[in-house]
Amino acid sequence: MSIKINSLLIHGGTDGDVTTGAVNVPIYQTTTYKQDGLGENRGWEYSRTGNPTRDAAEKLVADLEQGKYGLGFASGLAAINTVLSLFEAGDRLVVSDNIYGGTFRILDNVFNKFGITYTIVDTSDLKKVEEAIDDDVKAVYVESPANPLLTVTDIQAVAEIAHKHDKLLIVDNTFLTPYLQRPLTLGADIVIHSGTKYLGGHSDVISGFVVVNDDALADKLYYLQNAIGGILAPWDSFLVIRGIKTLGVRMDRHVDNASKVAKWLTESGYVSKVYYPGLESDPGYEVQKKQADGAGAMISFVLDEKYDYRKFFKNLKLIILAESLGGVESLVCHPASMTHAAIPADIRKEVGIVDELIRFSVGIEDVDDLISDLEQAIVNSSKEEN
Ligand SMILES: *Cc1c(COP(=O)(O)O)cnc(C)c1O
Repeated sequence: MSIKINSLLIHGGTDGDVTTGAVNVPIYQTTTYKQDGLGENRGWEYSRTGNPTRDAAEKLVADLEQGKYGLGFASGLAAINTVLSLFEAGDRLVVSDNIYGGTFRILDNVFNKFGITYTIVDTSDLKKVEEAIDDDVKAVYVESPANPLLTVTDIQAVAEIAHKHDKLLIVDNTFLTPYLQRPLTLGADIVIHSGTKYLGGHSDVISGFVVVNDDALADKLYYLQNAIGGILAPWDSFLVIRGIKTLGVRMDRHVDNASKVAKWLTESGYVSKVYYPGLESDPGYEVQKKQADGAGAMISFVLDEKYDYRKFFKNLKLIILAESLGGVESLVCHPASMTHAAIPADIRKEVGIVDELIRFSVGIEDVDDLISDLEQAIVNSSKEEN
């Protein structure tokens, strides 16, 4: 029976425990499995290679992304590390110009050492993507909406360009989750997640996922997952499965709150710019509407120069200053000194990650309280009064 995403969130992957009927997948806290004789195992050998709880989480995320194969990792970066390990010295990647800082760091300081290089491109500009592709390029790597300026890339159009040149398209779908956007159905070859964010959803588990459809690509990735070993633990797999059950209701509230906050900020007079692809005035609005079922709940804004951003962060009472995003609680961060500090200052300025830029992961609290907190924190950070 083909079921819709709100049912898949609860019954997708491995639905409960076939042996006992327990409605939840048990936590198989084991490293190894009894073999009945030489070469006679029951499908499980060693938990780095495979574990039933991780398997359930992997199948669930694959189902949600409408993919055939899912792989679970100890973190989003462990997932990214494994995907980047598909490439060889001399290969190059074309990468979105505002991506997660850690993705930039692993490319720049780890894979660069092994001769895998990258070119940074504004992937929302299709001409620039096309121009950046040459023989050495093996893949295009996109975040949409990208971090932290919420730049939207037309995934389907970039997939067509990549495939015309026989390259892979990799999409980091962390910001929207499969509830709002399914890149494989738009032509992407590999989808990456930091499950730490909306999938887990409660800021209590670090995790990562990769989903693909292609059999040969899946074989290579399973090989690398086992060879590198950055796998998702059984307990953490359980937590992600539990989080995913409420992904739909959480995302609905997240998106509703975010669109109200974005509208309020735009009209408030306190900010000089709001980045949110759910606003009709946003340059990404049309593409976002075409390729996703919502604009997500990440907003970035530039505080007007009348206000002191350091004071603003100090003044917040409900909204928490912290790294990360995608949890039920509202979090703000300062990309220039926190999430994107790994990006060199000149590139940061060039792409618009200015010091007054504030990134807001809108939580599922009462939206009136969020707006009140923002307002009092901004008003009390005025440079003139103090
Ligand atoms: C957090 C994040 C990552 C890295 O994930 P971890 O789970 O922290 O390793 C990668 N991409 C995006 C878009 C993220 O937000």
